[in-house]
Amino acid sequence: MSAHTSNGRVHPPARPSRRLRIALAALAAVAIEAAATWLRSGRLGGSLIVRCRRGHLFSTIWLPAASVKSLRLGFWRVQRCPVGGHWSLVAPVRASELTGRQRARAERAKDVRLP
Ligand SMILES: [Zn+2]
Repeated sequence: MSAHTSNGRVHPPARPSRRLRIALAALAAVAIEAAATWLRSGRLGGSLIVRCRRGHLFSTIWLPAASVKSLRLGFWRVQRCPVGGHWSLVAPVRASELTGRQRARAERAKDVRLP
């Protein structure tokens, strides 16, 4: 038995490539946003109740790092408010901070079912 291999090539020492660093940075950004969303709303994403700058409450699909309908600014987003029919900064709110009536109303006011 011999450990020798005739065609074994020695790989160069692994250096994090540029692509890997970008992937890691993106992953970290997603993790941070997921943590911030969780801290703020008590959930990791999915259908969340959000509040716009004018105080309207509505529910929206909120996924860290996935968004086609809003401009993302950390856990603030610029997106269309279906209650007032305007564009606004929105942020997730804790469902536990709302009264039952506010929550029921927010859950009825859904925007487009896209992340
Ligand atoms: Zn609004």
